[in-house]
Order: sequence, then structure tokens, then C-alpha cells
Amino acid sequence: MAKKQLKLRLAHLYPKRMNIYGDRGNIMCLKRRCELRGIEFEAAPLELGDKIRPKETDLVFIGGAQDREQRLVADDMVKIKAKALAEAAERNTVILAVCGGYQLMGKFYRGADGVELPGAGILDIWTAHPGPDAERFIGNVVVKWGETTLVGFENHGGRTYLGKGATPLAAVVAGYGNNGEDGTEGAVCRNVYGTYLHGSLLPKNPAFADFLIEKALRRQQKDLRLAELDDRIETMAHAEAVRLATRRAIIG
Ligand code: GLN
Repeated sequence: MAKKQLKLRLAHLYPKRMNIYGDRGNIMCLKRRCELRGIEFEAAPLELGDKIRPKETDLVFIGGAQDREQRLVADDMVKIKAKALAEAAERNTVILAVCGGYQLMGKFYRGADGVELPGAGILDIWTAHPGPDAERFIGNVVVKWGETTLVGFENHGGRTYLGKGATPLAAVVAGYGNNGEDGTEGAVCRNVYGTYLHGSLLPKNPAFADFLIEKALRRQQKDLRLAELDDRIETMAHAEAVRLATRRAIIG
């Protein structure tokens, strides 16, 4: 019997407001890596007021933005999206949240103005920005993720701390990561992944992109293994990003 045609169904949260430093490139990367393998790809942009359909969603993506945009979406996140996000996480939907989006997946984000925005609460983390005069964490990042590395670019004032229910996504090799103190980067709770890495993240880290795609599609096909792609160019770009970021870390 022929196998069912696979389709990755992605919900892209607030693409108009939460999208900086090439975050949208993550969607292009997911689409391309699916299509090269004959897997259909469908992205639903969900703005204010739009509902997530947990059952029909394999992957959720939310990018980063500054405090102003976070304030604009926070209310909608809590009132319209949070419950469905929690249900999606229960149904093994993979959720990837970057920077400002990452902060909003936690318990709360206290912005530079001291005002606390409640988060969706699906990651056991909290974030506080020490104020407009605090050092911003800006620059290229290299982190150790399992046996390999992830590379990206960070720019945030918020410091994120993990509760007992979350594990760090990776360990900082160069850059600041969650809070510039404890050497952790990002957070994971089950299939919810948060990270400070922009860049775009996934084109520079094809192994991480495939890890997420595979996990997401296993909702439809339990034993799925993605076919290899020719990643020579991506691997070279990744290696160059590691070289530049670690060189800077050594120099200064
Ligand atoms: N507003 C947040 C901060 O500065 C997030 C910034 C971002 O998403 N790049 O901490």
C-alpha cells in the first residue's frame, strides 16, 4: 500500500509583528527542506485574533521582536493562543520560539520599562530586562547542542532564567545566551524549543532544522526518517560562522 503523502502544517505566529534579523528565513528553510524531499508544506500566518488548530498543526514558529511589538501581541497570546499552544504541545506539535517569541512562551517577560507581560506559560522560564541602561547582549553566538554546534546572532536586553521544568537547549561557547551568567542557551520543555538565536537560525543549522521537521512529522508517521540532503554549502556557512564567532571570543 502506498504511503500517505506527508504534509508539514506550520502555524506562523504574528509574522507581521514578530519578525526580525531574518526570522522569516526559518520558514523558507523549512519549506525548502520539505519540498526537496517531496513533502508538502503549508504555512498559516496567524495574526491577532486568529486561532491555532492544535490537532492540524505539526509545527508552530514565532520569531523575535522588540518590547514594543511584544506588548502588542502579549494580550492576544494569553487570551487567544495560550490554551491552544498548551494543547498543541500535549499533542506533540513542535514549537520553536526565537528571542522575543521565546520570552513570551515563558511565565512572564518584564520589559525594560519594568512592566510585566504574562507569557503563554508553556516553557518553565521567566525573563527580566534590567532596564534601558543595561548592557544589551549583541553578537554572533556559537553553542554546543548535543554533539554538534548551533550558530546564530543574538540581540536582547532580557535575561532568561530556567525553572526546574525546563532544560537548556545548548551550552554557550561564544556569546551570552540566556542571561550572560550561567552558560546556558535556550530552553526545552518536551517538544517546545526556545532560543535567542536569530540569523536566520535554521538555514545556518540544517541539522537542527531536520531534527525539528522529523519530530513534527512523526505525529503523522511514527518511524519517519528524513532522507539526507546535500548540505555542503550550509555546512561551509555553518563552519565559517563558528570560526568568526569563536575568533572574536578569543580576541575580545
Ligand atoms: N525585547 C526583547 C529584549 O530586548 C527581545 C529582543 C529580540 O527579540 N531580539 O530582550
